[in-house]
Amino acid sequence: MSLQDIKSMTLAQMKDVFSQMGQPGFRALQVYRWLHRGVTSFDEMSDLSKPLRQALLERFYIASARVVRKQVSQLDETAKYLLALRDGECVECVLMKYHHGYSICISSQVGCKMGCTFCATGKSGFSRNLTASEILSQVQTVQMEQGVRISNIVLMGMGEPLDNYSNVLRFLELVSSPEGLNIGMRHISLSTCGIVDKIYDLADRKLQLTLSVSLHAPNDEIRGRTMPINKKWNVEQLLEACHYYAKVTNRRISFEYAMISGINDTDACAYELASRLHGILSHVNLIPVNDVTGNNYRRSSGDRLKRFVRILESKGITATVRRTLGSDIDASCGQLRRRMQEEEVQV
Ligand code: SAH
Ligand code: SF4
Repeated sequence: MSLQDIKSMTLAQMKDVFSQMGQPGFRALQVYRWLHRGVTSFDEMSDLSKPLRQALLERFYIASARVVRKQVSQLDETAKYLLALRDGECVECVLMKYHHGYSICISSQVGCKMGCTFCATGKSGFSRNLTASEILSQVQTVQMEQGVRISNIVLMGMGEPLDNYSNVLRFLELVSSPEGLNIGMRHISLSTCGIVDKIYDLADRKLQLTLSVSLHAPNDEIRGRTMPINKKWNVEQLLEACHYYAKVTNRRISFEYAMISGINDTDACAYELASRLHGILSHVNLIPVNDVTGNNYRRSSGDRLKRFVRILESKGITATVRRTLGSDIDASCGQLRRRMQEEEVQV
């Protein structure tokens, strides 16, 4: 029998399994608490009897994420990690320090299927989905390695979270559980390239998380050139889903917009974007595009960014230019793993 992933289980599921094993419910709670404190072996669960630890070992494994590489920015305290999973696959995550505390950007898949032309992860292809426990392990490992408490999570690392929907939903349930890390949904953001059917589903669940949508273009002509997903769901269908999400949850949607010189950063683009977002509870986050090896995209100038913001605001759309943390350490996710692949580094 193959070992089961115990850390992806909810407390209720664990109680069921424990009762089948003839164990009382409070034992399940003990184990759940240990797992969510980040232990990586049953032997560390010092208040369990040896036979019980042995029985657990025969039935389950504990997912973990091991630090393979860490880079710390000289400019700010941003730390970028490459973490190895049980099967040797690697994912990236980034810890950022803000005035209100620590925020972590985590991955949801090893690679990504979506193939956006500006994205390092997209260029590396897709390997596999992460389990809920692997997504959680990123938070735990970094928290323990840094000795800090992380208060905010953004699902904006490698992968498309809504393409690994059930595992991501489970992760959200685990990480927000009072017996676990207890990080509230209001402190969690999820970024998607626009998987429209899942946006509707997420809206109907009425979680209090923040939805970020990677829009990056005001129309199908430009978006279609950079984001293949636009062929499945176009800008109009995506914005309709966003409108629904904002209406049902009463939460402002954050639209991500990577400014690429000469492609999506003209005045005409700003006016078109403003008119399309009209009536949607939204905020636009402009990001100077990060140069990714081989894509020939140049970031827009500071003046261009400022003018774009001014046009949006003149039309009643709030917009900010995202502060780029860790720009000296390739802090946008996907870049470190890609470099490792290029160097063919053994981990
Ligand atoms: N798959 C999800 C989340 C991961 S990507 C999504 O696409 O939203 C996280 C964010 O980084 C997205 O907004 C994505 O569009 C952006 N991004 C990817 N490559 C980038 C680059 N080279 N420069 C700036 N932003 C980039
Ligand atoms: Fe995937 Fe997001 Fe990168 Fe697009 S931007 S390839 S959806 S990770």
